[in-house]
Amino acid sequence: MGSLLIDQEGGRSMRYSDDIIEEVRMKNDIVDVVSQYVKLNKRGSTYFGLCPFHNEKTPSFSVTPAKQMYYCFGCGAGGNVFNFVITLKMLLDLIFAHS
Ligand SMILES: [Zn+2]
Repeated sequence: MGSLLIDQEGGRSMRYSDDIIEEVRMKNDIVDVVSQYVKLNKRGSTYFGLCPFHNEKTPSFSVTPAKQMYYCFGCGAGGNVFNFVITLKMLLDLIFAHS
């Protein structure tokens, strides 16, 4: 915990490195993030839902909290919480750009 203490004198510590990526990843559970966009159902240790990246009627989009990864068995989309947000944002930008 010591390394995460914010420097009281300087206001904020300047720890802009790969650590910050890891920190964001740790503080943003992939299930919390994905479930804001996709309705997830728990099955064992994995969550399943309808893939936001392709059209489907049966859920083949899986989220594994233990690995903090997602994977779609239908279209092959997969990655971590960052990939999910970035890909979804690109997709939404594309949709709104054409509507
Ligand atoms: Zn898919």
